Amino acid sequence: MAKPKLALYWAAACGGCDVAVLDTNEKILEIAAFGDIVFWPIALDFKYHHVRAMEDKSIDLCLFNGAIRSTEQEEIAKLLRAKSKVLVAFGACACFGGIPGLANFTTREEILQRVYKEAPSNSNPEGTLPQVKTKVPEGELDLPDLFESVQTLEQVVPVEYFIPGCPPPSDLIVKVVDLYVTGKMPPVGSIVASDKTCCDECDRVKEEKKVARFYRPHEITTDPKKCLLEQGIICCGPATRGGCGMRCIKANMPCRGCFGPPAGVADQGAKMLSAIASIYQGDTPEAVNKMLDEVVDPAGTFYRFGLPDSMLKRKKVAKVQGK
Ligand code: SF4
Ligand code: SF4
Ligand code: SF4
Repeated sequence: MAKPKLALYWAAACGGCDVAVLDTNEKILEIAAFGDIVFWPIALDFKYHHVRAMEDKSIDLCLFNGAIRSTEQEEIAKLLRAKSKVLVAFGACACFGGIPGLANFTTREEILQRVYKEAPSNSNPEGTLPQVKTKVPEGELDLPDLFESVQTLEQVVPVEYFIPGCPPPSDLIVKVVDLYVTGKMPPVGSIVASDKTCCDECDRVKEEKKVARFYRPHEITTDPKKCLLEQGIICCGPATRGGCGMRCIKANMPCRGCFGPPAGVADQGAKMLSAIASIYQGDTPEAVNKMLDEVVDPAGTFYRFGLPDSMLKRKKVAKVQGK
């Protein structure tokens, strides 16, 4: 019997999700033994034309990491959707927009200005911006264009499963491959993680204490046995899906929300705002203003991994060009 065909792709990503696959240690051999890898740009020299030449639905399982922010990423997402039986949004960027999704707090124009003209390390006296057509001696090249907004994979193509995390923990990756091999995949649309919140899975002592002020992690020495949020450290555990193995909490760092919102929560940032409002001491306008001063970069903290997937989606722009 022919081996199943496996594909892995990265769109707007940092490479960490691909490294996480390699980080499965000896289990990588089981993943490799599970099927033939027919496309994996970071590791193997396959080209897009090899994928275009495949029959539709000839890839059995495609793990797609990264968000969609360029015409190239959208094109390959649609291509891999057509060629794959099962498409998995792999990692926080593909599932929720992730760190690249923070670009939705600004605009395409502002990003290009900053990166190509204003950044102190630039040497670009003519102020040249990236072009979608470039002439070279061999002819004219088409280059990807940047969309106005970063999107999740599911906002571009239908997706069967979601594996959250920045990056997904290696045991979840192995679990998904095992489930696939044994024909035990959960219902289509499932998020392969816990149905509980990080707080539900956290074994730190919770004393139902109110917080008199919030701190950044470097500002205080915390008790490693007690709830970070109750010690005044913004920890997104109440608004985050469990299943990561409490990676940050075990390192005495607060959860930043990379597993996305838990079941039944439509907006992770709004849920987190509600959690900190309920734990903060004082409910006068002065207390609220003090609290807001203490939370540095609230939007970037509460929507760190999920702005494109949130109810906000992006900063309002006067005129949206493209997507
Ligand atoms: S989810 Fe995290 S590790 Fe994966 S590509 Fe995005 S930023 Fe990198
Ligand atoms: S807020 Fe953070 S530290 Fe406190 S119980 Fe939840 S996950 Fe644990
Ligand atoms: S503790 Fe939170 S931020 Fe850290 S890995 Fe788990 S879900 Fe992600």
